[in-house]
Amino acid sequence: MSDAYEEDEGFFQEEEDFDDEVFENSDLEEEFDADNVVIDDYGFTVEKKRRKAYDVDYKVLSPKDLRVWQNEKIEQLTSIITLTREQALGLYRYFKWNREKLLEMYVDDPERTLHKAGVQQSDEKKHEVAEKEGTCSICFDEGLLPFFSADCNHDFCLSCYQHYLVSRIQEGETMIQCPEEGCSQIISQQSILNLLDEKFHYQFSRLLDRSFVDDSDMFRWCPAPDCPYAIECHVSQSSLNSVVPTVTCLCGKQFCFGCGRDNHQPAICPLVKVWLQKCQDDSETANWIHANTKECPKCSTTIEKNGGCNHMTCKKCKYEYCWVCLGPWSEHGTNWYSCNRYEEKSGSNARDAQTRSRASLERYLHYYNRFANHEQSAKLDHQLYDKTYQRMTQMQVDSNLSWVEVQFLKNAVDTLFDCRQTLKWTYAFAYFLVRNNQTEIFEDNQRDLELAVENLSELCESPTLDKMLSSYKQKVLDRTVYVRSRRDVLLDDTARGLAEGRWEYVVDF
Ligand SMILES: [Zn+2]
Ligand SMILES: [Zn+2]
Ligand SMILES: [Zn+2]
Ligand SMILES: [Zn+2]
Ligand SMILES: [Zn+2]
Ligand SMILES: [Zn+2]
Repeated sequence: MSDAYEEDEGFFQEEEDFDDEVFENSDLEEEFDADNVVIDDYGFTVEKKRRKAYDVDYKVLSPKDLRVWQNEKIEQLTSIITLTREQALGLYRYFKWNREKLLEMYVDDPERTLHKAGVQQSDEKKHEVAEKEGTCSICFDEGLLPFFSADCNHDFCLSCYQHYLVSRIQEGETMIQCPEEGCSQIISQQSILNLLDEKFHYQFSRLLDRSFVDDSDMFRWCPAPDCPYAIECHVSQSSLNSVVPTVTCLCGKQFCFGCGRDNHQPAICPLVKVWLQKCQDDSETANWIHANTKECPKCSTTIEKNGGCNHMTCKKCKYEYCWVCLGPWSEHGTNWYSCNRYEEKSGSNARDAQTRSRASLERYLHYYNRFANHEQSAKLDHQLYDKTYQRMTQMQVDSNLSWVEVQFLKNAVDTLFDCRQTLKWTYAFAYFLVRNNQTEIFEDNQRDLELAVENLSELCESPTLDKMLSSYKQKVLDRTVYVRSRRDVLLDDTARGLAEGRWEYVVDF
């Protein structure tokens, strides 16, 4: 066994004992059948592993899995060209794990490629620290000093070299160049490890792991704080117009693989970016919407919103109205509900610029208002979680239900939370849609989900009578299942539309 191999093995040793469980979301091809239906702890019927139009294949990888992945790549390479593991690793890092590009360059000129990548060539003597008489051109110390130089022979005193390396590592750099100004020589990984104290070895190897994931398009770190997992997904950046790659980490965090933001289905990443930029640019115009208090449209009493539910009842005059559009609530719980739809007024065809710009602002505010309202409601649902927890505890005291049996309430609030997140993004999506038959279907689905969410939300916030507990539970269970199914219909249709290129936008993404 060669020296290089042994050192390499040391480098790949586990520093921590991470859970090496790999979660695979692939293999979801099978069609729906009775064998795939299971009843979970909370009495829900769940379809196991049924593939949806909005599902993407991905894997959750632990740091150990990532090393295994790198080692496999290295073995593949060393089996076709004569390289040590250290050399193969150095080349891969230089070419950001792009094997095709690496091979192309290497086959063309092996020596030059190794040199450029800062990879030590096997026939060369190792770069070591040597004592000699001279002047360091960084600190201007002179006399008999330990000096070091990389392949380029620009030498500096050992202590300057070490300071330089540590500061570059602390800046997060892994491909560190020679300190000489204008010199692009990469300092080999082995030299870095030789020159640095043990205590920096761990830091440097963590940095290499991080850069391995950051450099490759098929990996992304889970954005949850301190989560050690990375996601492998093969949806490329160029296909983000036709798919919203939503993944769930083992830690429970759900996010978009394409852009790293929180789940923004059904809106595509480029649309999300443009929408958020627009919201930021227009934040002053729209600021008042974030207010948590509004006046009753009938008697002007100030009313504060303290739950996610949009059905408001004025404490003073008892008028029931919608928080979002301030219209009478009686029109909202029914089929002629149209709170989600923007009715184009004649203003959009107007000749004069002022009328046109007012119409376009009105249109934007319609969508922004609803987007912001769901964002706000999702925040208020956090308070609902606390209340729900208290109610679940109380329910156990009042009835003979166990902790597992009262989970149906938490499940309902989870569902509300997910659906508000989806609804929120449906308004950003709708803002950019060209009006046509497809938009009608989309808005029907949006309306059905709005209604279902509103009904469940009201039920969750309403007080329960002890005697009615079992029928209350059944109602919550039924509505939760229904809400989930409405969300599914909406996401399924938009995902299919994206894949088929069915959606037309008012701007180019
Ligand atoms: Zn020096
Ligand atoms: Zn140099
Ligand atoms: Zn995570
Ligand atoms: Zn995204
Ligand atoms: Zn009132
Ligand atoms: Zn309304």
